[in-house]
Amino acid sequence: MHDLFSLHRTDGSARRGTLRLTHGVVETPTFMPVGTAATVKALTPDEVRSAHSQILLANTYHLWLRPGKELLVEAGGLHRFMAWDGPILTDSGGFQVFSLQERRKLDDDGVTFQSHIDGSTHRFTPETVIAFEEALGVDVAMVLDVCTKLPATREQLAEAVRMTTAWAQRARDAWSSERTAVFAIMQGGLDPELRERSAREIVALDFPGGLSVGETREEMYVTARGSAALLPENKPRYLMGVGTVRDIIMAVDCGIDMFDCVYPTRCGRNARAMTRSGEYNIRNAAYVRDFSPVDPACDCYVCTTYTRAYLNHLFRANEMLGPRLLSYHNVYVLNDLMRGAREAIERGEWAAYRDRVLAATAP
Ligand SMILES: [Zn+2]
Repeated sequence: MHDLFSLHRTDGSARRGTLRLTHGVVETPTFMPVGTAATVKALTPDEVRSAHSQILLANTYHLWLRPGKELLVEAGGLHRFMAWDGPILTDSGGFQVFSLQERRKLDDDGVTFQSHIDGSTHRFTPETVIAFEEALGVDVAMVLDVCTKLPATREQLAEAVRMTTAWAQRARDAWSSERTAVFAIMQGGLDPELRERSAREIVALDFPGGLSVGETREEMYVTARGSAALLPENKPRYLMGVGTVRDIIMAVDCGIDMFDCVYPTRCGRNARAMTRSGEYNIRNAAYVRDFSPVDPACDCYVCTTYTRAYLNHLFRANEMLGPRLLSYHNVYVLNDLMRGAREAIERGEWAAYRDRVLAATAP
């Protein structure tokens, strides 16, 4: 089988690579828009593609509950069901299930939980989650992990590391499809020693590492840099749930290759424009008569076609085109940011690119 990932060049800790997946090639660093319920909210697959997205993320927890595995298999898999023929990564569902608090019960073998939709009972184990992701035919499957709500005691964090490794081993044994690559998720919270243990155990299983990070920016940078350094050079590194321009730039600087977040589409639905010079709310009175583009530095369809005044009007009139156009622009901005990052790393000009973006978007 071909290599999943090739690293072409590094510049400082920033990395330029290529991920080869069943449904296509992904140039890294890359941003993945989130299609929670088999749709990137408000955008068609054609629009997701023309905004230069290479891969998207879908949520195991949500798809498991609705429409469910049986229907997705009957539809011919997730790609055919949602009419997206590019790569798809599914998250493990762990984050959502562990957020259910009173509605879930963890044991050594798995986690039983109640649907937030109809209260029905479901059970995730490392084996059932991998089988679900393979049945959907996704390109990258995340292994079910044990998430700990922070702040947590060291004992709780250590237990999450232990169980997550044991579950990753079981997922590895259950993994049967060469069409689906499998990534594990590092645990350990903000405890450097436990994160190191978790990284070592995941690396020993020969899995690429996914990681989540702390609550604050400062924690994120420290943890992302420390964690990236623990992972092998020749495997992709995925930081979950990061989606602002500044956070992504800092994470690329730490040596991370992949990101996902609902941020650009959520902002798009809430009138928040992401631009090369920071964010603003397009509903504001200041834009009622502003006939310039959403982002004058942007060459996307929205910015070359419409004005701020028009989008301001759409949002004020509650027209659904407003959220659609702004979601498109925001996703385009992040993909364009990543293209710029890839080119800068290739040229050995990463530090200058990073500093330019951070200066232009300074709050
Ligand atoms: Zn634009």
